[in-house]
Amino acid sequence: MDMNSKRTVAGTWESDMVRLDLSNIHVREDLARAGRCANVHLATGRTCLLPLRHHGPCEFHNPQEADDILRR
Ligand SMILES: [Zn+2]
Repeated sequence: MDMNSKRTVAGTWESDMVRLDLSNIHVREDLARAGRCANVHLATGRTCLLPLRHHGPCEFHNPQEADDILRR
């Protein structure tokens, strides 16, 4: 039991780092279904409107532009 808990402490540190990274990016499901990248930059609330699996970095647009695309 003692040996197991030591291993858990080491593994927890690593998975916390991954979780921290994932928590910065969220995917809007409605935009993803519309074929968009849909990554949301949580700090600004902006969404990437480029096609799914686009090349290069995400381009984040404001929520109004995202809604306009969904209405088309
Ligand atoms: Zn993107």
